[in-house]
Amino acid sequence: MRVLVADKCGFCFGVRRAIEMAGRQCDTGKRIYSLGPLIHNPQVIERLHADGLTVIDSPDEAESGVVVIRSHGAPSSVIEELKSRGLEVVDATCPLVKRAQQRARELAGAGYRVVIVGQPEHPEVKAILEDIGEATVVENGPPKLLNAARRIGVIAQTTQTPEAFRRVVVGLSELDFEELRVYNTICSATVDRQRAALGLARRVDVMFVLGGRNSANTARLAQLCDATGVPTFHLETSAELTPEMTAGRQVVGVTAGASTPAWIIEDFVAKLESL
Ligand code: SF4
Repeated sequence: MRVLVADKCGFCFGVRRAIEMAGRQCDTGKRIYSLGPLIHNPQVIERLHADGLTVIDSPDEAESGVVVIRSHGAPSSVIEELKSRGLEVVDATCPLVKRAQQRARELAGAGYRVVIVGQPEHPEVKAILEDIGEATVVENGPPKLLNAARRIGVIAQTTQTPEAFRRVVVGLSELDFEELRVYNTICSATVDRQRAALGLARRVDVMFVLGGRNSANTARLAQLCDATGVPTFHLETSAELTPEMTAGRQVVGVTAGASTPAWIIEDFVAKLESL
């Protein structure tokens, strides 16, 4: 059995940066919190917890010390609230997420009806929504209730697929409006991982996509691979790998989401090769 690993997979720069920033804080000996899981990978979160990082769900849970804002960002009002309570804030929001936030603020401030191509429940989208007050979030196809909007401004959740983004923009272009402004805020790390995964899925007999089940970008990689028709498994670690998954397969492909560390990928490949 041959094992091929996607040439672009695993940690992106935004995730690596957030983990390094949190790690430096853990070394200070202060009380360190992250508002929501720092990244969407339970195994990494477990390790960070062992180093002293506590995940909190709401700003009220932090009593004193440092609160790290995760790579997905947080609403400005929450950051201000934390600061006003005397907490130190370390903002590990990915710069590319910040760019999407900034575009949304600009559009809303200029009076555009903002459309976010993304998942309404994703923390990145929720933070933008809370910041700008009102927007239409759409995952697929054009939103139907926008005919009354004269000026429409579009951005994307950074981990969307370019295809989904294009579909929404094309659909919007058919509505009755005066102006349509489009900012493609999908990050290049996402696009690179999606392209590499698709290219690999077409050359193998089975695909493994590694990453947190709560990771949107990993789930999207799995959907893309699955859509090629190749049997696809979305797993978190090698502990979930069984010999039946590769039975009769000659060539096996492995990819991983942007929040999956190298050690999980290496461990998985080693286990595959030992089957
Ligand atoms: S996937 Fe892109 S936007 Fe998200 S943290 Fe990584 S580099 Fe930043």
